[in-house]
Amino acid sequence: MNNSKHAARMERMQDIMQQKREAGSVATHFPEVANIVMNMTYTQKGARSILRTFNFTPSSYAFFIVNCLRKDCVDGGFDLTQVITTMIKNRRVEVKGALSCTGTDSSTDHSDIVYEVAVQYI
Ligand SMILES: [Zn+2]
Repeated sequence: MNNSKHAARMERMQDIMQQKREAGSVATHFPEVANIVMNMTYTQKGARSILRTFNFTPSSYAFFIVNCLRKDCVDGGFDLTQVITTMIKNRRVEVKGALSCTGTDSSTDHSDIVYEVAVQYI
């Protein structure tokens, strides 16, 4: 294992934890929301697609960034913050779309996602 690389990765994970804490709760940002469900289908070159579901309640952190499937992805991932904020502002109950990883390393095995977000209002 490459130790400095490992340390950098640990640091990034701590940054994400910090960002989560600073994001505050769903209830703080979106008091009208009862529940948010994000269904993500990941596709990655040479790999089987993977379905992941993220469930947010009012007490969850309002942090809607999910990581890339690529283990060593640099600065990548999928940021649904804007999608979800806009959706709630317009009181939409379902939104679908697709995103590609924004990772800056030159690898070609970053993942793409197709997402479906469903919001329930109080
Ligand atoms: Zn990536």
